[in-house]
Amino acid sequence: MLASVLLTLGLLALGGAAPAHAAHVLVDAGHGPEHPGATGASGRPEYLYNQDLAAALARALAALGERTTRVEGIGADIPPDQRAAGAPDADFLVSIHHDSILARYLEAGRQTEFAGYSIFVSQRNPHPARSLRCARRIGERLRAAGERPSHYHAEPVEGENHPFVDRRLGIHRYDGLAVLRIAPMPAVLVEAGVIVNPAEEARLGEPETVARLARAIAQGVHACLAERRADGIRLDLERPGGRRSSGSPGAAISRKCMQWLADTYKRQYMPPFATQATHARHRALPSNGPAEGWRSSRLGRP
Ligand SMILES: [Zn+2]
Repeated sequence: MLASVLLTLGLLALGGAAPAHAAHVLVDAGHGPEHPGATGASGRPEYLYNQDLAAALARALAALGERTTRVEGIGADIPPDQRAAGAPDADFLVSIHHDSILARYLEAGRQTEFAGYSIFVSQRNPHPARSLRCARRIGERLRAAGERPSHYHAEPVEGENHPFVDRRLGIHRYDGLAVLRIAPMPAVLVEAGVIVNPAEEARLGEPETVARLARAIAQGVHACLAERRADGIRLDLERPGGRRSSGSPGAAISRKCMQWLADTYKRQYMPPFATQATHARHRALPSNGPAEGWRSSRLGRP
């Protein structure tokens, strides 16, 4: 469930030596023991599903070379406006949730009608374009892993009505979500699936499903952050004279590391022959402004 009323800060830094060029990702497990979120069909509370997937996601990100900090209520909840407070300089926040449905649908016994993931972004986050870029990469990886988006949150009914930014990838705009709105870094919220649906809950509880979802989300975050790093490399290399000044952000990164990042980026994330077009598209996106996609809602909402 999206509604969160929460209370204490628990930060779990993941061990392991991350490369110097690793990004720092906050992995937020939604809700906590005091306000556990949705209740699964079996009675298991949402926050336990969130913690399991968040832990697996942090491991998957670490395996890809990223630095991670887990944000998790231990013995007490963490308020939404405190979830990024422990590491305000982190590069990205991904908040993990599991979904319910409207109370009147529950009462009508419609649980089995709803399944699938949803991704949320907020225009009121200070980095909406970067947030949306990461949401797209996560959606692409989830689809490639065999997951399908739920379209339920876009229904034009009271209590939902969160319009699509990208219907195919299951990305919705939800400006008021506190964890996204208040985070000082780009941020995305992922509803991994609908735990009030008994069959979906059973599937989401399987370790293989948790690992697969974690890998997919981690790959999406990694790809998105690699693009950002590669953007930095591109800007650096295009400086007049072709030399980096000692004061540039890239100066602290060794040439070898920069080359590795560029090679990895080209190999893994750039379609053949699309280099210039992709770079041009990135240049067109304001680093702090809204992306064009924000206004492509099929419901025509602002
Ligand atoms: Zn939730």
